[in-house]
Amino acid sequence: MNNIAEQLSLAYHKIDENCQLLSRQTDTVQLIAVSKTKPLADIRCAFAAGHRHFAENYPQELAEKARDATDLAGLIWHFIGPLQSNKTKLVAEHAHWVHSIDRIKIAQRLSEQRPEQMPALNVLIQINISDEGSKSGIAPATMLQLAEQIAALPQLCLKGLMAIPAPGKPEIEQQQAFAAMQALSASLQQHYPSATELSMGMSDDWPLALRYGATMIRLGTAIFGARDYKKE
Ligand SMILES: *Cc1c(COP(=O)(O)O)cnc(C)c1O
Repeated sequence: MNNIAEQLSLAYHKIDENCQLLSRQTDTVQLIAVSKTKPLADIRCAFAAGHRHFAENYPQELAEKARDATDLAGLIWHFIGPLQSNKTKLVAEHAHWVHSIDRIKIAQRLSEQRPEQMPALNVLIQINISDEGSKSGIAPATMLQLAEQIAALPQLCLKGLMAIPAPGKPEIEQQQAFAAMQALSASLQQHYPSATELSMGMSDDWPLALRYGATMIRLGTAIFGARDYKKE
């Protein structure tokens, strides 16, 4: 086994273990391999090892990799980065999922630009749960308003919520952030029963996220190793 295949296998094993401790079915958790800045060769490695869900942060990089990977049938692309209006088309044409919806204008453009022959784009609303320093994500109090607007768009399918809690906080604060997301998700599902996904947890904090109901965990470093932004 190569290193990426080994890391994947280890991650799947740990997810299994954590799910058992939590009495959760393993198939209620989707591991998403965050491949930003990594070469397509790494994605091909993970794909050959059986993995199908990959995430990118930059629209241009997503589009380039998606065009070069059309031979990988069944590969599912998630877009998880900040999205500007002038880049929505690239994402509408290549992603299966977008986790980072935090403005109605972006949602409207994605719906308009989604090619007709493709299925509706699955979207998550990004909530700013604990990171005062970040401009990404909406305030929890405005969630239902944005959800209602998104639900009216023909080419989008509202699937749930995403959050990136501020890093480096004490564990008690991390717990509070994940617990708050779990409560918001329950409240969203009262109005939109099919919006069941909760995307939270990264390489450093995913076991805690699982405890608070994460259904999608986004692992970059744990699968592909450290990123080298200088090579970008
Ligand atoms: C980069 C990134 C990840 C993966 O981070 P790791 O710490 O490398 O696992 C997950 N989610 C988002 C939104 C990211 O930008």
